[in-house]
Amino acid sequence: MKKVFTSCSLGDAYCVKALLEAEGISSMIRNESLLQGQATIDGHPSVWILDDSLLDAAESIASRYGSGECSSCEESWKCPKCGELHDPQFTTCWKCGADRPEKQ
Ligand SMILES: [Zn+2]
Repeated sequence: MKKVFTSCSLGDAYCVKALLEAEGISSMIRNESLLQGQATIDGHPSVWILDDSLLDAAESIASRYGSGECSSCEESWKCPKCGELHDPQFTTCWKCGADRPEKQ
């Protein structure tokens, strides 16, 4: 197994997994339990591919997501005040209470 993507947001990890699977690449998510407060040593949710020989293709898909081309899920957003990343369902920052900025 190889890790191709790490994110602060489980939503992002699911999105990358969906993109990989759309290209026929089997993958799994580790640290999925982060949201239940059971973060493990390496912390953030990460996406791993099962077939190491597909690493190049998988990395290019993951980096495409990183540049914001994913259309299969809503975007996570970054708090303008404190920089915390949030899943799309949240409308205010849980950390500092700032409102979610309007989409550009
Ligand atoms: Zn904030």
